[in-house]
Amino acid sequence: ILNSDKAIFTIVETGEKAIALALNNKFDLIILDVLLPDMNGLEVYEQIKQIHAYQYVPVVFVTGISDHEFKIRCLELEANDFFVKPINGIEFKTKIQSLLKNKIYVERLEGYYQNAVDSAIKDGLTGLYKRSYFIMCLEQEIKRINRQHDCLSVMMIDIDNFKIYNDTLGHLGGDIILREVGKIILENIREIDVAARFGGEEFIILLINIGKENSLIIAHRIQSALAGLSLPSKLASRIDKLTVSIGIADFPYSSKSSSDLLNKADLMLYEAKKTGKNKACLSSN
Ligand code: GH3
Ligand code: MG
Ligand code: MG
Repeated sequence: ILNSDKAIFTIVETGEKAIALALNNKFDLIILDVLLPDMNGLEVYEQIKQIHAYQYVPVVFVTGISDHEFKIRCLELEANDFFVKPINGIEFKTKIQSLLKNKIYVERLEGYYQNAVDSAIKDGLTGLYKRSYFIMCLEQEIKRINRQHDCLSVMMIDIDNFKIYNDTLGHLGGDIILREVGKIILENIREIDVAARFGGEEFIILLINIGKENSLIIAHRIQSALAGLSLPSKLASRIDKLTVSIGIADFPYSSKSSSDLLNKADLMLYEAKKTGKNKACLSSN
């Protein structure tokens, strides 16, 4: 009934194979028989719908049995339609086309929404979070810690002598370096941590469940990864490797509120700059 010039069809005979196939591919639409050799079509449906990528993928049931209760069950589970054999080809085709059109529309809307959310909370140059989002996360985490007796650290990172990069490479060349630094920071923290661009050439990281001593280990890891970045040869006479200065403070040991924590990390960053750069300084308790 459906035109194989316009779509690629993959057909399997068992529910188990259908689930495995769905897990490893991204189909646009699924047509399921109700009676399968190994399991019931509804079970297959429920398992496929648990896969995040299939949340909006339309599923149509086709069956030889005209059981009213079964049809109601399918519709309750929000299957998109239910056809009883023999199928009217035109009706079936029209339905499938309309479901596919609708899916494309929903995905486009979702894409717009995701872009809008991303541009509200993420820095366009580095893809790291913006300062405002960072502060919101920090405040949420501090509330959680006050209930759960945990700890967190904040690491402020400022690129040393960044003016030289801009002077030598131009502003766009400087931007490329900022992007690389953002990427290296992300590669050296955990997924639960939050990294943001705090301002021009300054970055900030929220390290969850980590006190300042362990943060220092991470700071050193970031410093050595940054030092390994290969820099444009134009910089060779003025900068031999990329270095940063870092200020670290933690909560609740060395600070008593989010603003106090940020001030202390900033003070430590200033201390690192003042005492020779290319180092990390920890706030005292
Ligand atoms: P220090 O070691 O004391 O940190 O010196 P510095 O030169 O890194 O610091 P300073 O604060 O004097 O200069 C920061 C420079 O960062 C100045 C500014 O033009 C540049 N900058 C800020 N935002 C951007 C940006 O988005 N792109 C580029 N390319 N440069 C930026
Ligand atoms: Mg700087
Ligand atoms: Mg700065």
